[in-house]
Amino acid sequence: MGRVFVVEKEGRSYRCKFCNTQLALADDLASRTFHCRRGKAYLFNHVINISSGALEERMMLSGLHTVADIFCCTCGQIVGWKYDAAHEKSQKYKEGKFVLERGRIVDDTLNFRLSISDSDDN
Ligand SMILES: [Zn+2]
Repeated sequence: MGRVFVVEKEGRSYRCKFCNTQLALADDLASRTFHCRRGKAYLFNHVINISSGALEERMMLSGLHTVADIFCCTCGQIVGWKYDAAHEKSQKYKEGKFVLERGRIVDDTLNFRLSISDSDDN
């Protein structure tokens, strides 16, 4: 295995619950309405500091998908999965996107909110 390079970006973000490594920015959040076997999950357009496992075909509530599990690159814990391909036409929008399980990430948006102005309410 090569060295692990951890990226740290500016802004509201979601972090690994286990080691606090930044995994995704709130700006890249595509949907909060996902569910997985272990509970709620979020869909992201981009994630950072992850490594991915082997692609596999997986039957989900919304049909057959080609997915790969994704892992925090710092602590190696599984944090979600990525969609490589969707077989149903209505699910194609997920291709190339990433799901992080809500129970495995923490958001630091609360801390950040203290430092931005009230005009953010809308
Ligand atoms: Zn971690």
